[in-house]
Amino acid sequence: MDVDTKAEELASALGKDKTEVKADLESLLEFDVPLEEAAQSVRRKHGGGGGSSTPETLDLADITTEHGTVNVTVRVLTQGTRTIRYQGEDVTIREGKLGDSTGTISYTAWQDFGFESGDSVVVGNAGVREWEGHPELNLGQSTTVSVADEPVDTDAPIGGEADLIDLSAGDRGRAIEVRVQEVDSRTISGRDGDTEILSGVVADETARLPFTDWEPRPEIETGADLRMEDVYIREFRGSPSVNLSEFSTVEPLSEPVDVTDAAPRLSLAEAVDSGGLFDVEVVGNVLEVRDGSGLIERCPDCSRVIQNGQCRTHGTVEGEDDLRIKAIVDDGTDTVTAIIGSELTEDIYGGDVTDAKAAAREAMDKEVVADAIRETLVGGGYRVRGTLSVDEYGANLTVEEFEEADDDPAVLARAALTEVRG
Ligand SMILES: [Zn+2]
Repeated sequence: MDVDTKAEELASALGKDKTEVKADLESLLEFDVPLEEAAQSVRRKHGGGGGSSTPETLDLADITTEHGTVNVTVRVLTQGTRTIRYQGEDVTIREGKLGDSTGTISYTAWQDFGFESGDSVVVGNAGVREWEGHPELNLGQSTTVSVADEPVDTDAPIGGEADLIDLSAGDRGRAIEVRVQEVDSRTISGRDGDTEILSGVVADETARLPFTDWEPRPEIETGADLRMEDVYIREFRGSPSVNLSEFSTVEPLSEPVDVTDAAPRLSLAEAVDSGGLFDVEVVGNVLEVRDGSGLIERCPDCSRVIQNGQCRTHGTVEGEDDLRIKAIVDDGTDTVTAIIGSELTEDIYGGDVTDAKAAAREAMDKEVVADAIRETLVGGGYRVRGTLSVDEYGANLTVEEFEEADDDPAVLARAALTEVRG
């Protein structure tokens, strides 16, 4: 529900002028007070009680963003804990999902109501707020939580156990069992000065994902098999990444975790629909080698590709020669731009930067390098592995492995689709 609609609803319930009510609401929203709490404050200020503020008792499937406050009887599916800076102070909040027999809903609890994953609870007077078009529950000061008389039925998984392949940005309170494949310690400058963090890659049988531990733990070392609880998932360069906070727990596992060497093979449609993947394999045909491929120049300060010796950030610079390929790959279900770095480009081109410069000098045209690459790649079928990121400008695959495919990519794509959907 937006401010305007809320103001209108409040104004008519309170018998007040809408402009005045809206101004009151907006001044509270400036302080990041959730809309429903702001509405309750405004209602109190104008002496309104009862009436439209009486929460309805609903099944989760029936809650819409039009509801103000609701009562629900639910199963706690997941609970994640984190600290956020709220009105200049650190506040510990709990977030996750609730379920009943009709569906699930995300929640944010602004205080510790004492429930845990698996508990069946009656939640009274929860605020409904809108997040990206969906209703979410806001459990605040005026919310009550009590134990339900009977266990609440739900088809949704309880406890947040997840395989890496099933995680997506926004997930909270998840539990995973993984092997640490790579780990590095880094120092970053945060708002509270320099902080040490760990970052690297974890793997299980289904996938590999990058991770960040914001509260470095000695158990996290290369080769360790660990159970991590209360982790949350953020987007990192367009793909999901596992985050450990001060509230996450890490326990060594007695049994080794089975780890995949292969990246999941997906059709391009499935890969792009996933919104980004750290490690994925696709098979497709190269339709086109785009401009900006072949012999290029990079800024010596930021490594970005530059045109005519001009970096967008650093102005006129002495460019450094490099090789790369931006190829459009299609498998009949979708397309991506594969970005191939210098090492693989050397293999494909059959020469290094020095060879490429010599060829360009001889032809008096840099484009001969890209043309040679075009001749090799366009029309061919390739197996491509790398990191896929998807944003409003399209899908980019930063390539780690690039090989000629043995089979017809279109056939493979159809097979992959059948497998995934089957
Ligand atoms: Zn630059």
